[in-house]
Amino acid sequence: MKERTLVLIKPDAISKRLTGIIIDRIEHLGLDMKAAKVVVMTEELARKHYPHLEGKPFLQDVINFMRGDYNGIKDHRIYAFVYEGEDAISKIRTLLGPTKPENAAPDTIRGAFGYTKGDTMFNCVHASGTPEDAAREIALWFKPEEIIA
Ligand code: ADP
Repeated sequence: MKERTLVLIKPDAISKRLTGIIIDRIEHLGLDMKAAKVVVMTEELARKHYPHLEGKPFLQDVINFMRGDYNGIKDHRIYAFVYEGEDAISKIRTLLGPTKPENAAPDTIRGAFGYTKGDTMFNCVHASGTPEDAAREIALWFKPEEIIA
């Protein structure tokens, strides 16, 4: 089924200059980039992006991480994309590997480039997990007119 999904290149990947490699791997899945922008990750946006983490003891750590506080990204920028194509959601999630980098196969992005330090998972990239999440996340990060039809 043709789907759209949200991809975020996180501060640990930005600080390691991995953006090109990550985009290259997604391009090789045969998916189309339909929107792209650089966004300032505010605490409010982080909380809206991760509503299912509300109340978790590690939420503040995730917010600080997503704002680049652990990677020297002082302007708090994050790179956001909408990709589209057949089974886009599962294809990108498979490419990323599981949430915890230590559980991810070495040929996945999180397995190859991610790591865990203390309680923080430096897992490089976010991608929507379900069609419902994708619709909600795309609407949170992009205005409809920013996405190519
Ligand atoms: P995913 O990023 O794979 O979709 P989640 O939405 O469950 O996973 O979690 C969002 C982010 O919160 C993860 O990428 C990770 O950085 C962090 N996280 C999730 N679970 C934990 C945990 N148990 N301890 C610490 N950080 C976590």
